[in-house]
Amino acid sequence: MPALIHQRCFNHATREAVARCPECSQFFCRECITEHDDRVICSACLKKLARVPLLKRPAFARVLQISQCVLGVFAAWFFFYLIGSALAGLPTSFHEGTLWQVDWIDQE
Ligand SMILES: [Zn+2]
Ligand SMILES: [Zn+2]
Repeated sequence: MPALIHQRCFNHATREAVARCPECSQFFCRECITEHDDRVICSACLKKLARVPLLKRPAFARVLQISQCVLGVFAAWFFFYLIGSALAGLPTSFHEGTLWQVDWIDQE
């Protein structure tokens, strides 16, 4: 990169550029460029890159949360449906037993 020597920093007109940002193709001085994931990148592009997953994460988490909530409701509904159908399928003689005559109900 022979042109790099004559390049000036995109942010500082008086400073010599040391590296070129691969994202925005601008030249930057040592102060303006940072290393990120084993490559040099300017602070503006680093901010841009850092912001993307931050924006994506809550949306994804929200979708996951909603789907988990819906799944949970369906699981609960299915669970109680199974219990209900199992209880309904029981012979009536079962309900006539002493199972529901618990002591704490009669105390009132
Ligand atoms: Zn950049
Ligand atoms: Zn600079």
